[in-house]
Amino acid sequence: MSQADLLIKNGLILTLDDNFTVLPQGDIVINQGQISEISAASQTKAAQIIDASGQLVMPGLINTHTHAAMTLLRGAADDLPLDIWWHKVIFPLEKKFVSPEFVRIGAALAILEMIKSGTTSFLDMYFFSAETAEICRQFGIRAWLGEAIMDFPTPSCKSAEETLNYVRAFANHYRADPLITPVIAPHAPYTCNRENLLKAKALADQLNLPLNMHVAETAEEVANLRLQTGLTPVVYLEKLGLLCRRLSAVHCVHLTTEEIKLLAHHQVKVCHCGESNMKLASGNAPIVELLQAGVTIGLGTDGAASNNNLDLFDEMDVVAKLHKAIKHDPLAINAKTALGLATTQAAKVLLRPDLGSLIIGNKADIILLNLNTAHLTPLYNPYSHLVYSAGGSDVSTVIINGKVIMKDRRLITIDETEVLTKARELAVKIGQSLPRL
Ligand SMILES: [Zn+2]
Repeated sequence: MSQADLLIKNGLILTLDDNFTVLPQGDIVINQGQISEISAASQTKAAQIIDASGQLVMPGLINTHTHAAMTLLRGAADDLPLDIWWHKVIFPLEKKFVSPEFVRIGAALAILEMIKSGTTSFLDMYFFSAETAEICRQFGIRAWLGEAIMDFPTPSCKSAEETLNYVRAFANHYRADPLITPVIAPHAPYTCNRENLLKAKALADQLNLPLNMHVAETAEEVANLRLQTGLTPVVYLEKLGLLCRRLSAVHCVHLTTEEIKLLAHHQVKVCHCGESNMKLASGNAPIVELLQAGVTIGLGTDGAASNNNLDLFDEMDVVAKLHKAIKHDPLAINAKTALGLATTQAAKVLLRPDLGSLIIGNKADIILLNLNTAHLTPLYNPYSHLVYSAGGSDVSTVIINGKVIMKDRRLITIDETEVLTKARELAVKIGQSLPRL
């Protein structure tokens, strides 16, 4: 009998398949990056065996929106009005510090944090995406990377035209990469004019790549677009022909009933960043209404400057509780739904049904959680625990594309101390430039 690459034995397996199949004690066999067997007691021999006794085995979490390198600005500005947060602190710091080196160090810090809290895939929009891509390769994490397209100069490119050229070259380079997917990322309708939005859409069509954009995050941006165009953001994007199944729209906090219907009609995906929206006081996205309309939603953390961590366990907890509170309805979003938004549904946002659930043939992106802790005892309902009790630090082992990336909370692929040391060194310089507000 031929030997498999990896065998995970004796775990409590949550498959998150269509039937929510649970194996109280089961084995998963992995071969060539894919799940090849799930059974109560596998007879398959494997080169590597992980004993998952006392652990929960589930699909890796998927973060559908972040700005990874902004971890270096974590805690630089909090508890401020959005315009001051943005224009007096974050923009000036980015202008001064964002460089290829900043992005390498910040992305490494972000990916370290994401892996340690069970995230195996993320969709990033930032600058110098080629630098982020190389860090992703070093760690072995799966990523969707979009270079932010704006009308004005960015830290990486002098113009939107230059950014589009950067994106073309990036897409060409990473087209066949097993872990990196290029994304076309016009930043937002208020930072990209009509012409640049159309060019971005044309490029996404030409290269058959996902589109990702911030949409309707704040009431102010919606009011400004109405003044300029007479239209609300989603209607404006529909008129331009940007709404399509490959578009994932980030935030979608301020939507009309008509816009919710438009998103559903065009199969646009939504990336929901509940904690960021709460912290920046942007408002509450109509998640229950979007779900009722049939819109596919994934959770995102947004950048660490507005969250302030990248832990999707926190996002699951918040999305379930916040919408119960808003709706005065404990059934508004239940634990299974919240978990789906970080796994199966998030995979659909990324147009990758082979992620987000443990099914034979799916990619082996798997996490293990230690159940032998006070806050996870007793265990009656694993879905409840994952959403309402667990945290990222419960994740013990992370497997991405069939490769063990973290074992017993120790990174295999990367020197963790080096990542933290470099981040702290750069933070000394950034700290000296923080404005006194
Ligand atoms: Zn964002």
